[in-house]
Amino acid sequence: MMSEERGLLRAEEFQRQQDELKVGRIRSSLVLKGDEFCQDCGEDIGAERRAALPSATRCVDCQGDHERRSKQVRAL
Ligand SMILES: [Zn+2]
Repeated sequence: MMSEERGLLRAEEFQRQQDELKVGRIRSSLVLKGDEFCQDCGEDIGAERRAALPSATRCVDCQGDHERRSKQVRAL
């Protein structure tokens, strides 16, 4: 019984570390500049768009789709 409890604690600790890693990764991805290629369709985002919006990670088309989708999710 004791060893099971210890295993559970270790699993919780592991999960907590994974969560912290995930948060750290999200934070660092917010700090990063945008991507050169669209994260949705893989097309070159384009120098002009990246110059205008350095944090862009999607091309204009996919960004539009993404915003429509996220609005729908928010409306639900
Ligand atoms: Zn795209």
